Amino acid sequence: MRAIWAKLYCDFDFALDFKWLGAAAPPETSLTRTIQPTFGRLHLSNSLVTGSNAFFSFVRQTLNQHPQRVTALIAALLLGGGGGAFALASFAPDAAEISVREVLESVQPASLNLAAAPQTPQHFTLFRTELTRSTDTADSLLKRLGVDDAVAAAFLRTDAMARQALWGRGGRNVTVETNDNNTLLKLSARWSPDDSGTFKRLVIEKTRQGFQSRVETAPLSASSRLASGTIQTSLFAATDDANIPDSIATQLAEIFSGDIDFHRALRKGDRFSVVYETLEGDGEPLRTGRVLSAEFVNGGKTSQAMWFQDPVAAGKGAYYTLDGKSLRRAYLASPMEFSRMSSGFKMRFHPILQTWRAHLGVDYAAPTGTAVRTVGDGIVEFAGIKNGFGNVVMVNHRNNQTTVYAHLSRINVRKGQSVSQGQNIGAVGATGWATGPHLHFEFRVNGHHQDPLTIARQSESVPVTASAKQMFDRFAASTRVALAAAASMQETSVQ
Ligand SMILES: [Zn+2]
Repeated sequence: MRAIWAKLYCDFDFALDFKWLGAAAPPETSLTRTIQPTFGRLHLSNSLVTGSNAFFSFVRQTLNQHPQRVTALIAALLLGGGGGAFALASFAPDAAEISVREVLESVQPASLNLAAAPQTPQHFTLFRTELTRSTDTADSLLKRLGVDDAVAAAFLRTDAMARQALWGRGGRNVTVETNDNNTLLKLSARWSPDDSGTFKRLVIEKTRQGFQSRVETAPLSASSRLASGTIQTSLFAATDDANIPDSIATQLAEIFSGDIDFHRALRKGDRFSVVYETLEGDGEPLRTGRVLSAEFVNGGKTSQAMWFQDPVAAGKGAYYTLDGKSLRRAYLASPMEFSRMSSGFKMRFHPILQTWRAHLGVDYAAPTGTAVRTVGDGIVEFAGIKNGFGNVVMVNHRNNQTTVYAHLSRINVRKGQSVSQGQNIGAVGATGWATGPHLHFEFRVNGHHQDPLTIARQSESVPVTASAKQMFDRFAASTRVALAAAASMQETSVQ
């Protein structure tokens, strides 16, 4: 038989799991026995991401009209067979009240293990998932998981495997299965300790002889996640809200760094959608991979990106617009990497002249020591002290274009040295005429100052090779579908 779980993120302490059972239950299996735990959540597999437009437009329409039902519909579609009787275990307040934050999620459906199921009759098996905190005790963790079971707590305190896997470690994903009296039937925790492509799973199970524990090793599975958000205060606040990892937020900023200056140009109401890789164990994301595609709407202008590895050129993969132009430009829009640290830093002083036009540059407030990078390939023309600039680096690019990086606390390059785009050249400081730590950045063409962002946007990009274009276009078509699905989740959650 098949069973699938859909997970609905909501504003509660834990996520709620809904379960559907396929029609093909073995005849000898009673209904109460079929409502048994299985790991995994709704699986939107890569093949579905590349699936039909019709499917996603259906999902999108449904999301807009009936957000609370979408998980059911997607689950039903994924079951594939159709006509399956399904049981829904809901222990939530009215599902319509729940604010849906993210509903499509990749999972590894696992087969049911009826043989291992406890024999006690029961009406519901409840599933809850939490992350461990480094300060957790058996009691605090079980309490957050809604488990009320003194025997289980005692086992967790004393069992060597449980102690090693759970206590003093934050961020480990723990799932419990309880009966409707909130006594523990099974607890499992997963983590991925290294890059071996596997994860560890601690399993504690109630048996006739009492609780027993074991640690298993299993392969991680790669899948994609869809997410979206709207900027209210900062990019990181928005990605936090959408449960998007920091590394994905930083990748987003870097992918669009030729188009959008994430330090200065973000606006309230800017939106983004992203599809990214996760490496999962039992359907739980344990590691974060690469952004596969993304869309960013900044000040009403939409930018899209897709990761593509040209199979003919056999080079490294790169990000492209969906019509096939590389997002790698001759110049980056920002000389500072985007990070949680640099994004939240506010100017603690008033520059005497506030706009680049007036004072011939752009000022980036950032803590002293923040890395500064050259925005394009070139040769260092000057590296040293110069009056008001303090410690300054000047880089000559082609076509008589020069960039200037001033007030540095540290210089990491020498005059005459070749530098490549993105290379670290020094660190933010407050040397020269500066009343607080910041980077003063200038772009000069034939000695005349220009707006750096305009230059970055004008710089040409490289198209995908003709031989790979057909394959690229197929990828791009499915990417559009995936991004539309991700965006529709956001529309749903703000309703
Ligand atoms: Zn300045």
